[in-house]
Amino acid sequence: MNHKLDNHPPARLAGSTAADGEDANGDNPNRRRPNTRPAGHRRRKAMKYLRRCRGWLLPSAPRIGAVQLATGVAVVIAAFSGASWHWWLVALLGYFMHGCVGHSVGYHRYFAHRSFKAPKWAEMLFTFCGTLGCVGPPLAWSFMHRRHHARSDQNGDPYTAHLYPRPHWRALLLGDYRPGYSEKRLRRVLRHQPLQRFVHRYYFGIVGGYALALLAIDWRLCLFGWAVPVGLTLWISALDAYTTHHWGYCNYQTRDASRNLWWMALLFWGEGWHNNHHARPGDWNFRKRWWEFDIGAMVIAVMGLRPSLANKPPGGDI
Ligand SMILES: [Zn+2]
Ligand SMILES: [Zn+2]
Repeated sequence: MNHKLDNHPPARLAGSTAADGEDANGDNPNRRRPNTRPAGHRRRKAMKYLRRCRGWLLPSAPRIGAVQLATGVAVVIAAFSGASWHWWLVALLGYFMHGCVGHSVGYHRYFAHRSFKAPKWAEMLFTFCGTLGCVGPPLAWSFMHRRHHARSDQNGDPYTAHLYPRPHWRALLLGDYRPGYSEKRLRRVLRHQPLQRFVHRYYFGIVGGYALALLAIDWRLCLFGWAVPVGLTLWISALDAYTTHHWGYCNYQTRDASRNLWWMALLFWGEGWHNNHHARPGDWNFRKRWWEFDIGAMVIAVMGLRPSLANKPPGGDI
């Protein structure tokens, strides 16, 4: 018996009006429905999806907090990895690159306070080192930092632990900082700075691309050349913002709780001379007494950069 023949659909009867595959009601489940969606629907859907993906690349406090936690774990893994001292030298160089050149000299003294003049190549170097340090884009970080100076230890200060409604340890998590202060002003400034606009828009794409490129070369290069230095920069910068408003001595009477803390100055490239800095925020050198050692200021001097007399950061006071 030929089963194939048995499976054939019944032949259409003469005089029948039903088409092939139609059921008794005349509906054909195999027939394509007419496209009632307006033209360009797929393109709009794709653009919406791309915009959502691009949204993931933007800087945000929770994402920076997540990187802080992940790189903190990386520091612990590295500590127990038994790696040779060569890799720790790479980590120290990375910490100098992201923490000193990027964060202290670039983000803090140049972008936030404009305390010295920098040619384009130096500005690009600061942007590169600071951006990959994962604390946020240069101008967003600067806006947040200037808010800290304008409202030190008062309501609206993004760093303060004095008015913190939650446990103090949360002041050490960068996810609690808000890098998007004064969005309107930031957008206005970014409109005139194409490089900074690009860095802001594709922030985590740039950072992720750099980390993956190092990973493709050697996983130890990614761990000791990026994750460990970034972990140190993020945790020590948060510790610096907390401790230098709690412990230490004062050279100046200021209206906030800023203090000078010698061990934090050694640990974080001179940033520990915080009372000196709050008293003279436009000064590129945080040193006041001869023994107050400021490595960040030495880097500026070695680079041959001159102090800025017109101390006007873009966007003005926050
Ligand atoms: Zn401060
Ligand atoms: Zn400052």
